[in-house]
Amino acid sequence: MSEENEAKEEKETRAALVTGASRGIGRAIALALAARGYGIAVNYRADEVAARQTVEDIEASGGRAVALWADVSKPEEVAGLFESAENALGPLDALVCNAGITRDGLLGASVPEDFEAVFGINVDGVVNACREAAKRFISRRSGVIVNISSVAAQRPGRGQTNYAASKGAVESFTRALAVEIAPRNVRVNAVAPGLIETDMTADLREVAEEELERRILMKRLGKPEEVAAVVAFLVSDEASYVTGQVWNVDGGFKLE
Ligand code: NAP
Repeated sequence: MSEENEAKEEKETRAALVTGASRGIGRAIALALAARGYGIAVNYRADEVAARQTVEDIEASGGRAVALWADVSKPEEVAGLFESAENALGPLDALVCNAGITRDGLLGASVPEDFEAVFGINVDGVVNACREAAKRFISRRSGVIVNISSVAAQRPGRGQTNYAASKGAVESFTRALAVEIAPRNVRVNAVAPGLIETDMTADLREVAEEELERRILMKRLGKPEEVAAVVAFLVSDEASYVTGQVWNVDGGFKLE
């Protein structure tokens, strides 16, 4: 077998789980990793139709994918998710913790349930999935994790106390986990997107697109594919000496 075919064969046997891959940035990450030869476990919680569409689109381009329902905030469902993903695709090589929500509002007007919901998905969801991945990756002495943070962790907007705090926790957790498992040849990084054109920012864009663009050096919002490209790089062997980092993909948000 030629060197090129061997490399191709190796690539085709790899598998990745992307949480919240039915829509938005997660969907773009699933497509980008599939294009690089990964079999993809497309996790979703509510939008089964969109998750199946992501799978169909991957299959239409010759890739392998499976749609798997699980609420990432529930440890037992995440354990089942990993089991189903590995049954369908073989041992996982990569995990991308992308699932996330916002529940913006001023702190004084918020209720404890707002924080519980945001932390349950954005923080516990990442911890639950990383725990399952760590168990497997440590024993295999190989694996890659990318967690999706947000520009809000460093530069929050008004009404983002719960969201900003949850993403700050994701970044600290990412660094701490990288310290813990780097000696076992497992890399852990985070990507912090700025304002990206997805359902999550649809309302915001409608009322404040002009103002948002003034705060972005590149004078435009980002596309999910632009985040996905950086995630795909961090997952790849090209980033083999990168761990414990947070990569901003935000068009130069508020640098001025
Ligand atoms: P989105 O369009 O609202 O999509 C969110 C995805 O997360 C959906 O696939 C959704 O699945 C999934 N999800 C939500 N709760 C879940 C749960 N409990 N269990 C499993 N999946 C769940 O959001 P997005 O803009 O693509 O954001 C993706 C990530 O990027 C999030 O972590 C977000 O915080 C982060 N981010 C986004 C922006 C931005 O400007 N858009 C900026 C910075 C960071 P269902 O549809 O099936 O419910």
